[in-house]
Amino acid sequence: MKILVTGATGLVGTAVQRVSKSLFPEYNMTFISSKDCDLLDLERTTSTFKTHSPDCVLHLAADVGGLYKNMNQKVQMYENNLIMNYNVIKSCYHNNIKQLVGMLSTCIFPDDIEYPIDETKLTLGPPHASNDAYAYAKRMFKVQCDAYNDQYNTNYNCVIPANIYGINDNYDLNDAHVIPALIHKGYLARDQGDIFEVLGTGEPLRQFIYSDDLAEIILRLLPTLNQDSVIITNPQEYKIKEAATYIAEAFEIEARLKFQPTASDGQYRKQASVDHMLKLLNTDIFQFTSLKDGIDRTVKHFIDNYPNLRI
Ligand code: GDP
Repeated sequence: MKILVTGATGLVGTAVQRVSKSLFPEYNMTFISSKDCDLLDLERTTSTFKTHSPDCVLHLAADVGGLYKNMNQKVQMYENNLIMNYNVIKSCYHNNIKQLVGMLSTCIFPDDIEYPIDETKLTLGPPHASNDAYAYAKRMFKVQCDAYNDQYNTNYNCVIPANIYGINDNYDLNDAHVIPALIHKGYLARDQGDIFEVLGTGEPLRQFIYSDDLAEIILRLLPTLNQDSVIITNPQEYKIKEAATYIAEAFEIEARLKFQPTASDGQYRKQASVDHMLKLLNTDIFQFTSLKDGIDRTVKHFIDNYPNLRI
């Protein structure tokens, strides 16, 4: 199978590069990033897909960020994701590409919903106000995939991960997701003997998935995905304060951990069911990386590579 991957230099794209090399030599993988093709440009996207002519497009490119980027850059998050996804779907269709797999996120589900969320509940209510622009743009990817599947019998699919973290993340102090933002802050706090500030109360619950685990599960599921949507995550829920404590331990700054309860907590909970994922996946051969191990590996990579990272 010839697979074209967008978003090659991102958190998940680089994980797919590592994991495909070591575990899936049978896949013929090509990776493109924004340097190779501007996915906001429909003509360029269509011609790039034509040149590579893959059996499958694994669409990982997106404009993403943590709670505070979603709150502060709504226009950019809406427009970039909507246009990019629209162009990718149209380019797959125009080039007769058999399979498309794109990424949503469990953070785009309704805010007021009965837990656990599952794949059927995506559009049962409005998303949390903090990330509504991003969430609606991403929901439209599924709407457009479903429309093509219904009308043209294409094989367009959505994978829906929870909060992803891992090596080669975006570690921007303001825009990043919670784990990479706190790893960057922890590094600076250790170096400067300062407090380690965690925004919000630390009480919200999250499911996290290590980027290499996500890459492996996506690559395992590819041959079985057919007009499907599947939530992918380690099912265990953690309080933000537990993740922050693991990070503080990795930098040996536990005593300097301080919460900033006036900052937004975002959504309190987003517990997602992995029943569908487990049905599709052979669990005998897959084991999740524990949050502690994943954080320890990510912190080590951050320390070894600082400052040559996306910071
Ligand atoms: P979410 O899971 O989609 O809401 O996005 P995040 O990865 O940004 O996680 C947000 C949660 O982590 C909220 O409860 C924040 O209050 C908490 N948090 C604590 N410190 C930070 C931080 O430095 N950056 C971010 N992004 N979130 C933080």
